Amino acid sequence: MEVCIHRGTHEIGGSCVELKAQGKRIILDLGLPIDAEANDKQYLPHIPGLDSAGSDILAVIISHPHLDHYGLLKHIHEDIPIIMGEAARRIIEAAAPFMPGNMRQTMKGSALQHGKVLSVGPFSVTPYTVDHSGYDAYALLLEADGKRIFYSGDFRTHGRKGKVSEHLINNPPKDIDVLLMEGSSLGRIQTDEPFPSEQEMETQLCEQFRKTKGLSLVHTSAQNIDRVVSIFRACKKTEKTLVIDVYTAAILEATGNEHIPQSDWPDIALYVPQSQRLQIKKNKWFDLLKKHSANRIFAKDVQKDVSRYVILFRPLYIHDLEKAGVLENAIYVYSQWEGYLERESFASVRAFLERNKIKKSNIHTSGHASLPDLKRFAAAINAKKLIPVHTFQPEQYDALFSNVETKKDGESWIV
Ligand SMILES: [Zn+2]
Repeated sequence: MEVCIHRGTHEIGGSCVELKAQGKRIILDLGLPIDAEANDKQYLPHIPGLDSAGSDILAVIISHPHLDHYGLLKHIHEDIPIIMGEAARRIIEAAAPFMPGNMRQTMKGSALQHGKVLSVGPFSVTPYTVDHSGYDAYALLLEADGKRIFYSGDFRTHGRKGKVSEHLINNPPKDIDVLLMEGSSLGRIQTDEPFPSEQEMETQLCEQFRKTKGLSLVHTSAQNIDRVVSIFRACKKTEKTLVIDVYTAAILEATGNEHIPQSDWPDIALYVPQSQRLQIKKNKWFDLLKKHSANRIFAKDVQKDVSRYVILFRPLYIHDLEKAGVLENAIYVYSQWEGYLERESFASVRAFLERNKIKKSNIHTSGHASLPDLKRFAAAINAKKLIPVHTFQPEQYDALFSNVETKKDGESWIV
């Protein structure tokens, strides 16, 4: 089997690995680089046949629905099957209309399902469900020509599905020739401590919600389903109502999981910000709006009882909140990766907080494995070779794990 990591040997984001056996190829992940200025075709890795019909590429397999793993799909030829989890597929398709021109609308292909082996030409693919901040995430065992490669994808053990990652660590696949293992946390936090759990996030959120006399704004990604659950559970415990917009309602519905909060649940309310109202009108998404309007509220409802509400904040709420005059004593909790704070897109939020004298607090835990968990994972898989992917710190691996071999982007080698 021939392997080439096209992107990811020394960066987080833009993940893409190509495998070749018996003249046939499969691609693992096709992510948008994190520093890409737009979803432009120039970022597509130089893989012959990706954007043309009749190539020997049998499938693109997407490990989980994060943009840095699937973002470039819109540039590939529509005949190439796209294999991913069914919920992941629904989430990407539900999000796509809200990011016009940025995303591919439909993706046909087989479904990844925990433990269900897929035959893709000469390749055999076994998915393992893992815990991650992205929903419906998998690690993958890839076999061909008598060789076995294990791709960790993105994973952690301290989220709400921590047990599934633990199960993998306790029952690892045997005789692995190559482990491609993510190392997002290396270099970010130099600590041998485990990361706080989602349950701890929930407790911290409860404390914040109890203290505040005003509106609570929690800024997170609607696609970080674990976090949405933590926020919702904290709302329940503090007798507050969680306010979501139509985008978030559509993502939560797309999980297809009856245990995940939905727009028609008690203690959930739908508020449609002005800019989203215009988007709905322009695109005639009236059925979508109707479907999620069981608990719809308006500015006047929030004005009447500000302390009752926790808004799953996104910048598109800024205009509405200022216009409604509901920000006295409001709190703002930042609940996603700190790296986004440095970006230009955060400037409008920073200005909003300053203008309204709202203090920012941080309640967040990583979507990725801590160093102790990476060590346990690598030891459990016990591969003949461990190759760093999805990391800014490949040079740290050698001191932390056994059998490490680093590669360069675009370098092919035979397993
Ligand atoms: Zn991810």
